[in-house]
Amino acid sequence: MTKEPDVKSQNPPLPKDSDTVSTGKPSREQAEEAVRTLLRWAGDDPDREGLVGTPDRVVRSYEEFFAGYDLDPVEMLARTFEETDGYDEMVILRDIRLESHCEHHMVPIIGKCHVAYLPDRRVVGISKLARVVEVFAKRLQIQEKLTAQIANTINDVLQPKGVAVIIEAAHQCMTTRGIHKPGVTMVTSRMLGVFRDNPATRKEFMSLIQGQHSVGLSNA
Ligand SMILES: [Zn+2]
Repeated sequence: MTKEPDVKSQNPPLPKDSDTVSTGKPSREQAEEAVRTLLRWAGDDPDREGLVGTPDRVVRSYEEFFAGYDLDPVEMLARTFEETDGYDEMVILRDIRLESHCEHHMVPIIGKCHVAYLPDRRVVGISKLARVVEVFAKRLQIQEKLTAQIANTINDVLQPKGVAVIIEAAHQCMTTRGIHKPGVTMVTSRMLGVFRDNPATRKEFMSLIQGQHSVGLSNA
């Protein structure tokens, strides 16, 4: 780190986030100005009382929605455990809540994700699997790419005997705009290793994730 200047400029020419300066990321002020532009473009007055704080709130929301760009999923899976007493059955995390954003319209993709892997000696804390889903979800996505990224990362880092990922999600760009088809969900899957090669393993996975309730229907 170079030493901080003593006096802060009122209009810094560079973004505030020191770690993202090199990427040319716009400043928070520029992002807020862009929101004001969209508000005006929608036909409203960004200076009216109800909207004055909106650019700030939108930018803060974006920090949450897209927090995944600053996180490394490989690092997340790095800590593994080998003392499993010979456990060699599949590990499944079912019904992981999925919140992402479509990269074509920047509107929500909401659904759930099921992740399974068949360990080969190494296992990982289950919360880490959910975190990997979250890291990729908190970026602009298409569902196919999201599904593949989750499966490929788990496969590359843990090197298990197989990985299975299924995502079922509704895309707001289909439900609240465009063709307006509420209730339609998109299902994508990526099967690697034994889940791809062995129909019995895949079938076991499918029956386990459907377990007490069918996919897409919660009886809670
Ligand atoms: Zn879309």
